[in-house]
Amino acid sequence: MDLIDSHCHLEHFYKKGILDEILENAKRDRITQVITVGTQAQDWSLYQELTSRHRGTIYYTVGLHPSYVGEDWEEQISRLTHFFKDNPSPVALGEIGLDFFRLPKSIDEAKTVKMRQVAAFKRQLMIALELNCPLVVHTRGTFHECVKLIDEAGIDWRKVVFHCFTYGPVEMRKLMERGGRGSFTGIITYKNAESIREAALMQGLNNVMIETDAPYLSPEPFRGSPNEPSYLLYTAQIFAELFKESGPEYAQQITLNTKRFFQLND
Ligand SMILES: [Zn+2]
Ligand SMILES: [Zn+2]
Repeated sequence: MDLIDSHCHLEHFYKKGILDEILENAKRDRITQVITVGTQAQDWSLYQELTSRHRGTIYYTVGLHPSYVGEDWEEQISRLTHFFKDNPSPVALGEIGLDFFRLPKSIDEAKTVKMRQVAAFKRQLMIALELNCPLVVHTRGTFHECVKLIDEAGIDWRKVVFHCFTYGPVEMRKLMERGGRGSFTGIITYKNAESIREAALMQGLNNVMIETDAPYLSPEPFRGSPNEPSYLLYTAQIFAELFKESGPEYAQQITLNTKRFFQLND
């Protein structure tokens, strides 16, 4: 069975000089394609370059991650659309969204950071609307705020994925009602992730996508050590158990979902 890692960050491996090894490991375990996700202007060009070097294996996205929204956010975002007119072009805009987990201690500073994140998210939603491209959303403790802003922007929810879905069935229903979807990381293999597994089951095999978010969030049994695309296998295993599937069909379906969502052509 061939799988696609629908969300990882290859910059980490590139900088350590181990990217080729990591891609070999992935290939060995039949993770045949990976989507490397942009977080700020400095990785966008690298990901474009890696994509042209590994055509058909690596795909990329560009977007300003909420945790990287700084004073220069407008300047960074102004460089986004250029990539979509270039070759190779990104398969999605993202990851963008809201993350209120690590805010400054000062109330005033925290307020400024939040306002900046909202402004950067809104601006990028407008770009996504114009481009009519798939959208990778990062939300941490900000589910309702993100849903509201996407609704207000008038985005076609069928093009929206909430990556690293860590909410429960209630939130999944809200996404599904709108036509959106979630993508699941190795967190789903953790013992206490019962409600996330419920959400995955609710979404069903015909829409679900999986990812590593490497180098973060290693699945069991590698929890706590650096993650890599080949570990997607362990997450896929949990899905097989969850959906009570034993044959290769379930993996084929997940791969098909990812290809359709990101319009990957191979
Ligand atoms: Zn994220
Ligand atoms: Zn990520």
